[in-house]
Amino acid sequence: MSKVDLIIKNGKVYTSAGFQNLDVAVTEDKIASITMPGRIQNADRTIDADGKYVLPGIIDFHTHIREPGFTHKEDFETGTRAAAAGGVTMVCPQPPVNPVPNTVENYRNEIELGKRKALVDFNPSANPLLYEEGWVPKLAAEGAVCFKVFQYAMADGTINTAHLFEAFKEIAKTGMYCSIHPSDHFFLNEAPQKMRKLGLPMTLENYAFLVFTHEEVAGAAYEIYFLAKKAKMKWYALHCFFPSYIDLVRWAKTEKEIDVVASCEVMSGIYSPAQVYDVKRREWFEVGKHDTISDIEKTWAAINDGTIDFLTTDHAPHLREEYKVPPHYVSGFPILEWYGHILLNEVNKGNISLERLVEVTSTNGAKIFGFYPRKGAILPGADADLIICDLDREWTITSQRVYTKCQINPYHDQKIKGKVTHTILRGKVIMEEGEVIGEPGYGKFIAPLKR
Ligand SMILES: [Zn+2]
Repeated sequence: MSKVDLIIKNGKVYTSAGFQNLDVAVTEDKIASITMPGRIQNADRTIDADGKYVLPGIIDFHTHIREPGFTHKEDFETGTRAAAAGGVTMVCPQPPVNPVPNTVENYRNEIELGKRKALVDFNPSANPLLYEEGWVPKLAAEGAVCFKVFQYAMADGTINTAHLFEAFKEIAKTGMYCSIHPSDHFFLNEAPQKMRKLGLPMTLENYAFLVFTHEEVAGAAYEIYFLAKKAKMKWYALHCFFPSYIDLVRWAKTEKEIDVVASCEVMSGIYSPAQVYDVKRREWFEVGKHDTISDIEKTWAAINDGTIDFLTTDHAPHLREEYKVPPHYVSGFPILEWYGHILLNEVNKGNISLERLVEVTSTNGAKIFGFYPRKGAILPGADADLIICDLDREWTITSQRVYTKCQINPYHDQKIKGKVTHTILRGKVIMEEGEVIGEPGYGKFIAPLKR
């Protein structure tokens, strides 16, 4: 057998038939072969994965990289360095940047920034709001993997329901998915008044507890569902972690008239801000907003029964001083660099099997968005995007070294079991034992193979 660049030997390798003891050989940026242990000896580098698992690299379809426009929070280099640290080999940067990727020029500009600075592969989501000027099909032709829009005016421009429906009809012609953040502007605007009425201190924590409620999200999601179906647009149901919203998606998936996929954002869903803030406010409300624990259990059930197709991070970095009181609030937290590790901890807690974790963090999304089998597969000829995982490692997350620019670590001091020990992107080790050794500019823009 001729010499290869890298062998990962003795690992339990993810295959479509489950985990098997195999060696993975890599030549240049591709997987060359997967063989019985010991068959290939001649390699420039050997990694012994004895006792560990070898999985496809994690693909994150919802990442806030913040570049261009908000690079004080994060940029392509810092954000993708955090990605590499967390076992993520590809990210889909989200459109709330400035300028918004709603024209070909803006989209290409964002790609150029990524090509210069990213450590991992990427495909920015495009914004459809200039549909009237004909940009939707042009952005599709650029290789955008999906569109993303908020239901109401937020960071990405002004929209109303009628505009949204027109945009959906344009997107439908491209055959692409559109991910929509379900929200009802009226509920959001009422929240501060409600807080005054209840005598609640006007803090961000209290505001966050009042907005993004079941009532708001489920009503908003039904509107999206109905309009997407009418427009014959493929619906990417974003933020699918409210029981009533999950029920809607579960039912919509039984219908022939609509193509729907759903994601749960781990930062805002399973590790909800309500948990991160750790503030006991439930007694203030007649009807508790979240029955947080049972909501999370129901979300895991939907992840495991296939209602939710894939997980994303919703990595949403902000500077500490930006977490102010409403209406000048920001929401979300960074998560990327702890992502793979905390998910392995969830496997150890029994919330999800390792096989299902691979599906929802890599394989399913790669198939849905047309990257498979180049991405999301451990197969000969696929990109050698791999993570090596030690499920038995017990360790404590600290803030000694934080890669995300804002330096906030919501997981500080958490004891977990499970660690991604290596992140490998297209044959190159870019993270080893927490040390990111990838280079800015190695990350590539990846267009889908098909749609
Ligand atoms: Zn987001």
